[in-house]
Amino acid sequence: MTTKKALITGLTGQDGSYLAELLLDKGYEVFGLVRRSSSSNLDRINHFSNNIQILSGDLLDQSSLMDVIAEAQPDEIYNLASQSYVPISWTQPALTAEYTALGVSRLLESIRRCKPNARFYQASSSEVFGQPDESPQTERTAFRPRNPYGVAKAYAHWMTINYRQKYNLYTCCGITYTHESPRRGTEFVFRKITHTVAQIKLGLANELKLGNLEARRDWCYAKDAVYAMWLMLQQEQPNDYIIASGETYSVKELVECAFNCVGLNWEDYVSVDPAFYRPDEPVQLVGCIDKIKTEIGWQPEYSFNHLVELMVDYDLKKLSS
Ligand code: NAP
Repeated sequence: MTTKKALITGLTGQDGSYLAELLLDKGYEVFGLVRRSSSSNLDRINHFSNNIQILSGDLLDQSSLMDVIAEAQPDEIYNLASQSYVPISWTQPALTAEYTALGVSRLLESIRRCKPNARFYQASSSEVFGQPDESPQTERTAFRPRNPYGVAKAYAHWMTINYRQKYNLYTCCGITYTHESPRRGTEFVFRKITHTVAQIKLGLANELKLGNLEARRDWCYAKDAVYAMWLMLQQEQPNDYIIASGETYSVKELVECAFNCVGLNWEDYVSVDPAFYRPDEPVQLVGCIDKIKTEIGWQPEYSFNHLVELMVDYDLKKLSS
């Protein structure tokens, strides 16, 4: 049997690093597109970087994408690269569109020209729903993005579907809701909480400042999410799916759970700071996972409590070492 080849964009990010590990475990030859940086950004992949091939390219540069695809000749391409932080999309809206929207056009066009039989996964986001008119959201819920990141992801989503319809390419969109892990940046609220709780337990901090404690999110583990991405590209026909936990928890429930993990009372340490309120708080973003469950048999393996425990545990160990 010939070895399957996969190309991952966004290899150095949270999802890219977990997906590469999954594909290596499955015996794939893995290629990662990495943009040039003046200092190393390989922290999340250093432990396996000898087992993959890193190719230099950038979503801003069409010819680099064509060269990378022509060189790797991948059977599967996972586009996980993006400007992925919503607040920055308000201060850098044009750059966000360049990476997150037009970058996908460049990639699809490169696939069409250089490797039209490759299977393509596009990382869509629940931010395309913005303030949805129904809850939970399904694959048929109307898109009403409410920030430049969501708008850029909506463009990329529809371009991916258009290339499937017009050129008969095997292209899929996975609409992921928030997913977390010890590899998540501390600017995101889940990791900010687990990291600060570990700091407080170790005497390195004494306060956790948060915004709206009643805000609810649909959270799952990044390892579960990347497994869904891989599964989607193994199906006979390309299709689009919501990837979520199907449940919501409030920030307060997350905080309580994280402080419980270290045996402390959250009310002694948490203060609410309006500066952390997100200006356009989306209402009840929660994914309906009936389609992905029924059609391809995916559902998350890790519970919310398990995820909180493993992240607090990781942060405690990392800060103590
Ligand atoms: P992440 O950790 O922020 O990683 C983003 C990756 O994109 C990094 O490897 C980054 O490379 C790369 N990148 C950015 N601009 C690029 C460019 N111009 N050319 C090439 N590479 C570029 O994101 P993530 O959490 O793994 O998320 C993966 C994907 O899922 C993203 O598209 C994100 O928008 C989407 N998503 C994520 C979530 C979530 O909860 N995590 C939810 C919904 C959707 P550098 O290392 O060089 O910066």
